Amino acid sequence: MVAAIFILWCVIGAVVGYAIGAPRGRASEGIGLGLILGVIGWVIVALLPPADSATSPTAHVHEARRPCPYCAELIQPDAVVCRFCGSQVEPVPKPTVTVESIEARYPAYFDQAKAALDRLPNRPDDELEWLETVCFALRRGWSIQRAVAEATPQAY
Ligand SMILES: [Zn+2]
Repeated sequence: MVAAIFILWCVIGAVVGYAIGAPRGRASEGIGLGLILGVIGWVIVALLPPADSATSPTAHVHEARRPCPYCAELIQPDAVVCRFCGSQVEPVPKPTVTVESIEARYPAYFDQAKAALDRLPNRPDDELEWLETVCFALRRGWSIQRAVAEATPQAY
């Protein structure tokens, strides 16, 4: 009986912890702290700052948009007509990716990625995209083998 009450108490702690943590992007912390600490855990979760929303994919989408010069609503960078007010707007050209621009962006990793490209048995269809993917993966701390495998999925 005591064991049953204990288990029930843990479940309630976890559920309430989840309910407090979920809206703040801290569902897992809510479950863990509620489960272990009960009421004290709930208080801790409620006092935690909300999880960083800048890391969510939607934040990235917002970043890519720009305000319409006429109505200030956020529109796609390459839009020619504002979808909110219908005004004609100048499309913002996408930055042209070149070997030089990749080298400039990833100076520490470019040579390694370029050497790996030259060692490939078959050249990838889009060498620039391949180079950028490998450089990006290397900067994230991946090994060159893993970075190449990421950029060349069809070869593995
Ligand atoms: Zn507009």
